[in-house]
Amino acid sequence: MMIVMTESATDEQVAEVVGLIEGTGAQVHVSKGETLTVIGAIGDQEHDGRVAGLGLEQLDSVDRVVPIAKQYKLSSRQIKNGQDSILDIAGTKIGGKNFSLIAGPCTVESRDQMMTAAIACRDGGASMLRGGAYKPRTSPYSFQGLGVEGLKLLAEAREETGLPIVTELMDARDIDDVLEVADVIQIGARNMQNYPLLTELGKAGRPVIIKRGFSATLEELLMAAEYVLKEGNESVILCERGIRTFETAYRFTLDLMAVPVLKEMTHLPVIVDPSHAAGRRDLVEPLSLAAAAVGADGIIVEVHPDPQNAVCDGPQQIEAVDFAAYAEKVAAAAALAGRALAARPQKV
Ligand code: PEP
Ligand code: MN
Repeated sequence: MMIVMTESATDEQVAEVVGLIEGTGAQVHVSKGETLTVIGAIGDQEHDGRVAGLGLEQLDSVDRVVPIAKQYKLSSRQIKNGQDSILDIAGTKIGGKNFSLIAGPCTVESRDQMMTAAIACRDGGASMLRGGAYKPRTSPYSFQGLGVEGLKLLAEAREETGLPIVTELMDARDIDDVLEVADVIQIGARNMQNYPLLTELGKAGRPVIIKRGFSATLEELLMAAEYVLKEGNESVILCERGIRTFETAYRFTLDLMAVPVLKEMTHLPVIVDPSHAAGRRDLVEPLSLAAAAVGADGIIVEVHPDPQNAVCDGPQQIEAVDFAAYAEKVAAAAALAGRALAARPQKV
């Protein structure tokens, strides 16, 4: 259930309603907008019945009580009264009118490779840096990532560039190591429905990017976000990265329609990964332009100083020397959708 307070409701009146809802056993989620406060009473049907029984609409401070019909509740657009969430990631913003370019290599390979990529990404206008230290590889015989050594190189890259770090966590046993370095933790497509891992991230409180599973519906993606939000972590970013279809001419089908449709469904920022969808460098730029123009809040793209010799995903990584020109075109496309490149954090 969603309780919309009146514009004149005081903090005491909000607290009174929160107390009444807590008494029903429902989880309470307060969202303070510019003019209105909305209180979410989250629980099962039984909780909804008890909250309805409180007769909150009788209170002067309550404007209306509306059931949230969807399965996803904390991620629903309704709970934020139709507003976009704007997240602050270590000093750079994502969501609203900001367009975030998250760039960097598929995986951390060496200091030299990571630093060269990081500097090119920063100079080209990226607001966050990506790089995997734990890699979800289809074959167990492929390179699996440098692990803790890779995390240390990411920390050095942040030190050098001031850019926040996005890196993937696959196994909850590595969470403490990853939390030492990551400003945003990436949950890969293959782990989108790893619910215990999502719950741990909810508890950890660090911003999370959740990538859509190869065959996940948008509702399933939002339910994955719900696992993180439910633990009190409000910093969730959704990522469309291509889905499996009958088409075999390219690696995945980038579902760009997901962007405006997710925007209708949720208040959470939505970004696009053109690199893993395409699997081919030549497709990355056109897909990025389309994603920006269709209203994505950002792009996460793979950039490498020497893709021909990359340890993984070489064919899809943009050459570091080409990143600035690419970023300029993407920024122009984002402007069509009313967005401007997000400001980088000020290096301290
Ligand atoms: C990645 O971003 O490095 C990655 C493996 O992506 P995905 O989980 O979308 O395949
Ligand atoms: Mn990759």
